[in-house]
Amino acid sequence: MNYTFPPALTPSVAVAGSDIRFPVHRIYCIGRNYAEHAKEMGMAVDRATPVFFCKPADAVVADRTQILYPLATTDLHHEVEMVVALQSGGVDIAAAAALRHVFGYGVGLDLTRRDLQSAAKAKGLPWDTAKAFDRSAPVSALRRASESGHPQHAQLSLEVNGSVRQSTDIAEMIFSVADIIHELSKLFELHAGDLIFTGTPAGVAALQRGDRFHARLEGIAELRGAIS
Ligand code: MN
Repeated sequence: MNYTFPPALTPSVAVAGSDIRFPVHRIYCIGRNYAEHAKEMGMAVDRATPVFFCKPADAVVADRTQILYPLATTDLHHEVEMVVALQSGGVDIAAAAALRHVFGYGVGLDLTRRDLQSAAKAKGLPWDTAKAFDRSAPVSALRRASESGHPQHAQLSLEVNGSVRQSTDIAEMIFSVADIIHELSKLFELHAGDLIFTGTPAGVAALQRGDRFHARLEGIAELRGAIS
């Protein structure tokens, strides 16, 4: 095929214990999926209607990367989240059948320009500039579900400069992984290569230039990086 110029490379994520890479199709995110985080943001918990937003696939950042402090913000926030990677998809996926579509699990940061998000919320505007910016999705190597199983309990935590900022058990999620896949597949046709950020627990706060972060999904994945 002839293109006017070479198409961009497919963004991808490492697979733990392998040289094979996971090609990223889309990045979906759920908001307000832990009650204590919804509370700290001053929002009501809605157990009926999940809040979804997206990031571009090329927002992924590899483990152990120096991330440039983003443009247009003075309030860059960390949100540590379990990341689910899909190996197949579809529409109207039943929750009971959802986990068979999961390739594996990782840990990531849903980096957020909180000042832009607050301004957007106040005006009832979309969140794209707050959430979907360049390098806004650092993700660890993915652990295959065939190795890790489908975790029901695991400690999800983030240290910044050696201090714990966020820590919870993923069992505290309001919408489970199966629920999220079910709900998303009513809105979008899911595909192999989709990543899903599953929401952040309480403790979100600012990152500064020079900060080093270390995110962990206990026994499954680790992500290190720094802001420069
Ligand atoms: Mn988030």
